Amino acid sequence: MKRIGLYGGTFDPIHCAHLRLAAALRDELQLDEVRLVPAGQPYHRDHGPHASARQRLDMVRLAIKGEPGLIADDREVRRQKNAYTVDTLQELRTELGPDAELWCLIGGDSLARLPSWHHWQDIFTLANLAVALRPGFDPAHLEPAIRAEWQTRQVFDFSNRTPSGTIRALTLAPVDVSATRIRARLAAGEDAGGLVPAAVLDYIRQQQLYRNTLA
Ligand code: ATP
Repeated sequence: MKRIGLYGGTFDPIHCAHLRLAAALRDELQLDEVRLVPAGQPYHRDHGPHASARQRLDMVRLAIKGEPGLIADDREVRRQKNAYTVDTLQELRTELGPDAELWCLIGGDSLARLPSWHHWQDIFTLANLAVALRPGFDPAHLEPAIRAEWQTRQVFDFSNRTPSGTIRALTLAPVDVSATRIRARLAAGEDAGGLVPAAVLDYIRQQQLYRNTLA
């Protein structure tokens, strides 16, 4: 039976923590593939992305070139409406059938915001949730609805794998990198080497991205 991971993000730009997370998801959960899905039109953000959807997809493709099991999935870029994760999971579930194991990867900060996502509780009927903890994550600070899911759905071993419905925290040590910080460095003319793959940095220079961004 297929085991597929979905990793959605703005990827503005994709950075080394994203890549480590995608690889950790693939390896820890022994998935056949992890699909990185750049959001076409993120709706739960204060401001739009700085790079276009096409540019963010190009950067994802450059970043994962040669990485086994990591795939760039352009479905949200092609779709001209809001990028609801639940719609993407529903689409994948329809494609893969009811028995495939589906994993949705999010960061701990996204977990805290989950109750604001469109039809967020349906995520558990469609997929399992893998959470990559970020520095500062504390389950005690989750709001009650999501804390209850965190407590009841968490599984710590894999003797009983299911197509959907569980939550697992990745064991990967938290990586203190964010796209916001990278954009700020680039706007200040500072070096972002080591934080972003070299091919993506070349693309950023060539496309003259993030020169005047403040956040
Ligand atoms: P920004 O700084 O612009 O908000 P970001 O670095 O958080 O961007 P996103 O594209 O928004 O990157 O992230 C996609 C997903 O990856 C989100 O679920 C986010 O929580 C998670 N994520 C990003 N960076 C990390 C990190 N360093 N550790 C754990 N999760 C992360």
